Amino acid sequence: MARILLHICCAPCTIYPLSILRHGEFAVHGFFYNPHIQPYTEFRKRLDVLISYAATESLPLIVRKDYDPETFFRQVAFRETNRCMYCYSLRLNAAASLAKKSRFDAFTTTLLYSKLQKHELIVSLAEEASRRFGIPFHYSDFREGWREGQEAAKSLGMYRQQYCGCVYSEMERYCPKSFDGREEDSDTAGACERGLG
Ligand code: SF4
Repeated sequence: MARILLHICCAPCTIYPLSILRHGEFAVHGFFYNPHIQPYTEFRKRLDVLISYAATESLPLIVRKDYDPETFFRQVAFRETNRCMYCYSLRLNAAASLAKKSRFDAFTTTLLYSKLQKHELIVSLAEEASRRFGIPFHYSDFREGWREGQEAAKSLGMYRQQYCGCVYSEMERYCPKSFDGREEDSDTAGACERGLG
C-alpha cells in the first residue's frame, strides 16, 4: 500500500481528505506544521483538537510544534496582500521535504479542501515543491466533499475556527467597517462556515 504524507492545517479540514485518501488505499500519515497561526492560544487549540481527532481515527501524526510568527511577519512585511503565497510555500516545502526524507510515496495537503483558499496557487506551489524535493505530489480536489466534511465536524462537536490563521485573516473576519473605515472583506467573513480553515 502506498504511503502518503498529508499536511494538515486543522482537524475539521482533515475529515474529508482523510476518508478519500484511505478509500483510495493510501496509508495516511498526518503532518501538522503551521507555525504562523496567531495568536498562540489559537495555535494550541487547533493542534489539541487535531491530536484528539487523530487518536479517534488511529491516524499517525507527526507534529512540529515550532511557533514562529516573527519569521512570518518578516517575510510578508510590505507584501501583505501576497502573504498566502509565502504561507503556503513554507508549509508545502516542509511537507515535501519530510515526505522525501521519510520515504513516503507522495505528499498532499488539507489546504486543497477549503473552498476559499487559493486553490490553483496551492497546486502550483505543491508541484514546485514536488520538483524541488523529488517527491510526487498527489492532487485531489477535496473541495468536492466540503459539505460532507463540515457536517461531520459539526456532528462531532469539533471546534471550528472562524478565521484562516494569521492576524490579517482574523482582522478581515472581525474588524467592523465602522472601526477604521476599512471595508469588511465579505470573502473572508464567516470563513470557517464557508471552508476557509
Ligand atoms: S490568510 Fe491564511 S493562508 Fe493566507 S497568510 Fe493568512 S493564514 Fe496563511
